[in-house]
Amino acid sequence: MSKLKNKVAIVTGASKGIGAAIAKYFAAEGAKVVVNYASSKRDAEQVVKSIADNGGTAILVQADVSKEADVTRLFDETNKAFGVLDILVNNAGIYQYLPIELVSQESFHQQFNINVLGSLLTIQAALKQFDGKGGNIINISSGASNMPMATGSVYSATKAALDAITISLSKELGAKNVRINSILPGATETEGTHTTGIMGSDFEKKLVENTPLGRMGQPEDIAKMAVFLASDDAAWITGEKISVSGGIYGF
Ligand code: NAP
Repeated sequence: MSKLKNKVAIVTGASKGIGAAIAKYFAAEGAKVVVNYASSKRDAEQVVKSIADNGGTAILVQADVSKEADVTRLFDETNKAFGVLDILVNNAGIYQYLPIELVSQESFHQQFNINVLGSLLTIQAALKQFDGKGGNIINISSGASNMPMATGSVYSATKAALDAITISLSKELGAKNVRINSILPGATETEGTHTTGIMGSDFEKKLVENTPLGRMGQPEDIAKMAVFLASDDAAWITGEKISVSGGIYGF
C-alpha cells in the first residue's frame, strides 16, 4: 500500500465528502497530504486526525480557492511544511440547482469563481512548485459536464469549462511532464448531497434508477480512481475525462 510513497499532495475542499476521502486514501498510500478547507475547520481537523491515527502525515490549511491571496498562502504553507509538491487535486466545488429564471449574477459568479477560477489559480500556483520536475493534476469534474441536467445550467457549464481546461492544459503541459486528468463522478453521497436535500428525495431515486449498478456512489469510489491517476500506474494517461459513476446515463 505505497503507491504514493513520499509524494506531497494538496487536496482542495478536503474537509468533507469526496475531498476528505481522497485525502485519506492518498495518505494511506504514503502521501503527505495538505487538507484544504474554506470554512469547516472542525471537519478538516477530523480528517487530519483520522490520517494521523492511521499512521499518515497531513497538515491543515484554510484557504478559499477563489481568492488569489488565499491560494498563494495555501501553496506557501505547503512549501514551508514539505518543501516540494507532486500532486494537486482540484476538488473544492459548489453546486446550485436553479431554474433559469432564478439564475442570478451572484450564483453564476459564486459557482464559476470556485469551480473554475479557483482551479485555474491553484494550477498556476502548483506549476511554480512543480518547478520543471513534473507533476500531476486531477480535476474533480462531474457527470453533469457530459450530461447536463435541468436546473443545472450554470453548474454543468462550470464542469464543462473545467474539462476543457483539462484537455487544453494536457497539451500545454505534457512537455513539462505534467499530467492532468478529469474525474467525472456520478451521483455520490456526501455532506453536500445531504445538505442540498438530494439524499432522500425523489431526485435521488431517479439518479439510482438511472445508474446500472443501482446505488449512489460513495466518496471512496472516487478516491480509488484519484489514487490510480496520481500514481505511476497511470503514467501514460493525460487529458482524459474518466467517468466514475456506476454507469449513470442521465441526471
Ligand atoms: P461537499 O460535501 O459539499 O464538500 C465540498 C468541499 O469543498 C468542502 O470541503 C468545502 O469546504 C470545500 N469548498 C467549498 N468551497 C470552497 C472554497 N471556496 N475554497 C476551498 N474549499 C471549498 O462536496 P462533494 O459532494 O464532496 O463534492 C466535491 C466535488 O465533487 C465538487 O467539485 C463537486 O462539484 C464534485 N461532484 C460531486 C458529486 C456528488 O454527487 N456529490 C457529483 C459529481 C461531482 P468547507 O466545508 O470548509 O467550505
